[in-house]
Amino acid sequence: MSLHNHYYYDEESCEFIPMEYNKAEQIIYNLSIWILTGVFLSGLGIIFLSSYVGTPAELALKAENEILFKQLETTKKSILDIDSQLKEIAEADNEVYRSVLGLEEISTDEREAGSGGGAPNPEFDVYNQSTADLLRWTSSKIDNLERRISIQKLSFEELKQSYNTNKDKLQHLPAIKPTAGILLSSFGMREHPVLGYTRTHGGADFRADIGSSVYSTANGKIKYVGLRGTLGRIIVIDHGYGYETLYAHLSSVPKDIKRGTEVKRGQLIGYSGNSGLTEGPHLHYEIHLNKQKVNPINYLFADISPEEYLLFQEIARKNTKSMD
Ligand SMILES: [Zn+2]
Repeated sequence: MSLHNHYYYDEESCEFIPMEYNKAEQIIYNLSIWILTGVFLSGLGIIFLSSYVGTPAELALKAENEILFKQLETTKKSILDIDSQLKEIAEADNEVYRSVLGLEEISTDEREAGSGGGAPNPEFDVYNQSTADLLRWTSSKIDNLERRISIQKLSFEELKQSYNTNKDKLQHLPAIKPTAGILLSSFGMREHPVLGYTRTHGGADFRADIGSSVYSTANGKIKYVGLRGTLGRIIVIDHGYGYETLYAHLSSVPKDIKRGTEVKRGQLIGYSGNSGLTEGPHLHYEIHLNKQKVNPINYLFADISPEEYLLFQEIARKNTKSMD
């Protein structure tokens, strides 16, 4: 076929004579044509791909960059999540643990001091703007988290020391829920459900059906058992160190719980009810520190998790009406 398309000029006969190839030459010739065509087409393909799509190496890098950028964005979400958890821990640390142990609060400024100095990170300049911004943000936020975690660790150390030197006092410090039910309403300005007007609600209300167990929230001595006006049947316990607790609207009190009885934290002292002026059965619980009523939500730390503490705070914020 192709062989007969090739001729040579014979000077003697003055004519074109078809060229004769032997078998080997024929194969090599055919092969070389195919190779040349192949090389030419591949070249065209590479030029086309690299101009419009990118070389395989570039494609691989691009894919890798996309994965890394997505990874960075996922990391950002995790960092924000850790950030808010750390904020909640710091809040509980100040309002509950440090507060009840009489240690000074650590302010947000103190917790973040020395972090977030906005290091310019010139090594990120080689990336495009959005990647560089994300890298700078990540780097400075991690600095900030590290700082806050180390402050938190110091605070816990301080709490531990304070706990060890104040063990007796802590056993006399109200620290658990007085009954099993969830918080219904908390301390502060609340609308009275029966009287209909807003006044200071001096304690926390817990859900408790009639006859639910009520427990002493710290070691102490029973100071009073009996009726007191709108609070109905009450128990008052003197815990020393300036602390007293009051449990109201009770249905009954065991005979051995009377003035002068020593009680331990967690000991059964009575049964809840709806004596006095209430909207329904519940337990009204008060803590007095040096004769002043304080918010019982901050004195549940031995009993509830930080999550429950936050839940209780939310309930306290939302429920503008008390049970009594
Ligand atoms: Zn109440």
